Amino acid sequence: MKRVAGYRCTICKKEYPFGPELMTCPSCGEKGILDIVYDYSEIKSVFSKETLKHDHDNSMWRYRALMPIKGEGLGDFLRIGWTPLYRSLRLCHQIGLDTLYIKDDGLNPTGSLKDRASGVAVAKAIELGYDTISCSSTGNAASSCAGNAARMGLKTVIFVPERAPIGKVAQLLIFGANVVSVKGDYRQTFELSKAAIEKWGFYNRNAGINPVMTEGKKTVALEIAEQLNWNPTDWVAISVGDGCTIGGVYNGFYDLLRLGMIERIPKILGVQSTGCCPFVDADARGGELVPTPENTLADSIAVGVPRNPIKAQRAVKESGGAWIAVSDEEILDAMRLLGRTEGVFGEPAGVTATAGVKAAVAGGLIQSHESVTVVSTGSGLKDVKNAMLAAGEPFKCEPDIAALEASGRIR
Ligand SMILES: *Cc1c(COP(=O)(O)O)cnc(C)c1O
Ligand SMILES: [Zn+2]
Repeated sequence: MKRVAGYRCTICKKEYPFGPELMTCPSCGEKGILDIVYDYSEIKSVFSKETLKHDHDNSMWRYRALMPIKGEGLGDFLRIGWTPLYRSLRLCHQIGLDTLYIKDDGLNPTGSLKDRASGVAVAKAIELGYDTISCSSTGNAASSCAGNAARMGLKTVIFVPERAPIGKVAQLLIFGANVVSVKGDYRQTFELSKAAIEKWGFYNRNAGINPVMTEGKKTVALEIAEQLNWNPTDWVAISVGDGCTIGGVYNGFYDLLRLGMIERIPKILGVQSTGCCPFVDADARGGELVPTPENTLADSIAVGVPRNPIKAQRAVKESGGAWIAVSDEEILDAMRLLGRTEGVFGEPAGVTATAGVKAAVAGGLIQSHESVTVVSTGSGLKDVKNAMLAAGEPFKCEPDIAALEASGRIR
């Protein structure tokens, strides 16, 4: 694979040749998360704005030249990516922006942006000859791993914390995963999965560890750029848990910059819940991360010990972006707002970026003339309980027109 030059450790910067079995840096250990290093001149010979114009693959695989996979049999996958980028018609005015776009990644096959990483993981596992793939997850990585693996005929062993929303657990069971619901928090779930993966030798889809995961997630940035005709917005806002997604967003724009396909990397806004915001806290104290409790209803970003901190912090720093935290009330408010003004239904973590942009505009961090893209990272149907918390109960009526009229409910 000439397109891929090798791995580079995000801590010690040591480079390693590209090989299948390297998950983290041998000298730095588990914290030594690796970057994939590309040979951009090789990529340029097969990938450009011109080749994309003639590529009718409307999925994330249209960017396969920028992924560390051989890329055979991709046509058989579920349709991942190429999700709509809507120009906001009403929400922008409500929050005081001239130009706002909404990237609805809840429309991926299993309902979240995680499908982008799971697709690459499954492709890689098949390429390497594994028959079982495993991960721990707050929910979406799990269900997307299980769904994409089911489609491609791989078995899955999935670890979720017991508080995972029932909708996501239902997906896992429907996709035939071997589900282990761990009586503990996400950190303990992660540790158990790590031990099991070592013991039984499954392919490891853990996003904090496996360097190819960001390379799938970065396709959301590639799409935003292409859908905006290579002029991405001034800001891109994304919710952050482990930090793999925001790291991927940066990597995607970075690749495009190196290929000369965009002129600048958008400022990246990392958004967390005040109930669990280790990155926002770290930013305030100069960068050092400290484990925090996981007190937020946005389960997908309830990550007290982020597994991909270096790529996440680099994304905000190198892009000149910012970190911001919003309360769970603001998240529920954003859920209603996005639904009512644009018809987009996101889960709590899915709308957290929208809540963050609203707060950033109100606080003067984002100016009203600056253009913004928010990514809605997951579908609201996955977590109906919290949607009802945001939206309230419906009006209940006797099956009688007189009663309906007397209620004054309809005018
Ligand atoms: C996983 C997830 C995130 C955050 O991604 P990280 O890589 O953990 O930072 C945000 N929103 C949703 C819906 C997710 O599933
Ligand atoms: Zn290292």
